[in-house]
Amino acid sequence: MNDVVNNPPSWLGVMGGGQLGRMFAQAAQSMGYQVAVLEPAADCPAGQVAQRLVNAGYSDANGLDELARQCVAVTTEFENVPADSLSRLAQSVFVAPNAHGVSVAQDRIAEKRFFVGCAPKSGVMPAPHKVIAALEDIDAISDDLLPGILKTVRMGYDGKGQVRVKSRDDVRNAFEAMGQVTCLLEKMLPLAYEVSVLTARGADGESVVYPIAENVHRDGILFTTTVPGPNVSAQCAKAAQDAATAIVAELGYVGVLCIEFFVLTDGTLVVNEMAPRPHNSGHYTIDACATSQFAQQVRAMARLPLGDVRQHSPAVMLNILGDVWFEDGSDTPRTPAWDKVLGLPGACLHLYGKDDPRRGRKMGHITFIAATLDDAQRQLNAACAILGIPA
Ligand code: ATP
Ligand code: MG
Repeated sequence: MNDVVNNPPSWLGVMGGGQLGRMFAQAAQSMGYQVAVLEPAADCPAGQVAQRLVNAGYSDANGLDELARQCVAVTTEFENVPADSLSRLAQSVFVAPNAHGVSVAQDRIAEKRFFVGCAPKSGVMPAPHKVIAALEDIDAISDDLLPGILKTVRMGYDGKGQVRVKSRDDVRNAFEAMGQVTCLLEKMLPLAYEVSVLTARGADGESVVYPIAENVHRDGILFTTTVPGPNVSAQCAKAAQDAATAIVAELGYVGVLCIEFFVLTDGTLVVNEMAPRPHNSGHYTIDACATSQFAQQVRAMARLPLGDVRQHSPAVMLNILGDVWFEDGSDTPRTPAWDKVLGLPGACLHLYGKDDPRRGRKMGHITFIAATLDDAQRQLNAACAILGIPA
């Protein structure tokens, strides 16, 4: 394993071939690096742009060894990458983030335990919760946790693997419906709004923290990210950024880490979960910040100095789901009017090269940058009208 700076044109590797891997590859390549992607699917967003696609399963020893041989450093673009695979890679190549950070973020129990342990330093607690590993655990839950949300401990994303529950019977039914896999019951909190904080830490222990982002979800999927957040007070922003800085240091993490928080109606900040990679809510950084979250990941893994996180324009990011390919009621996809969207001032379109639009599938995003947040929001509304997205 090397512990020196890796200047371009050396090879950087990424586990996973999705859109995050694609945008990572594009950022790395624009800095002169060469990129190898390990991904089992033959056609994938990152594979379309990388110089090399290692077509192998995420646990395939030969594939992992090939990636390690080719690259000076390896990162991951999805959080469910097997931690064992990262450990195997780490025997011969620098891996950031490492298996420890990823395995904490992969497991809601480990993640909550970590957040609780970190609270004296971060100043924030997670939602009250209890592990439900067997039906008997349901009898022992305190009434105070209801109504709540039952979440699978592993593999949840975009609101999948979670059920809202009002009573003990609901918990029982939901637990059985999920096949009695280990779950976490979380108290349902009164959210005023949701924010995320993107941070990055280098191997030298230096870290940076991006401006706080305000997120709106629809049907469990991120809908928009607005920065600066219209509801976020300076005090809340500072508390969340300080918490993120403490969390990334406590985890001994190297790379980009995104931490999601809830802000409750009484103003309390609650830490929800973290993603050990660039995050959908950080896409705005590509067009609105001096250093994008993907360029930052390149810098962290190549042991370069971390980049300037300064935001130069107010920004609103809109996720583009497959739904916009379908006119109301139609089953036949048609190309959305990108030409009209691109006629809007400050519209930055990013499509991920997926040729099979499906409802609910993330196909791309648009970031609107403008001199003022009001202007950016006006362009967002105009784009929604063009694309048939309900305002
Ligand atoms: P993703 O990976 O897409 O961020 P996820 O499926 O991992 O999502 P969470 O982020 O934990 O799951 O929850 C999804 C959404 O459900 C949150 O953004 C929030 O709106 C709501 N939610 C989750 N937990 C709570 C809670 N304890 N109280 C109130 N609302 C919650
Ligand atoms: Mg979430």
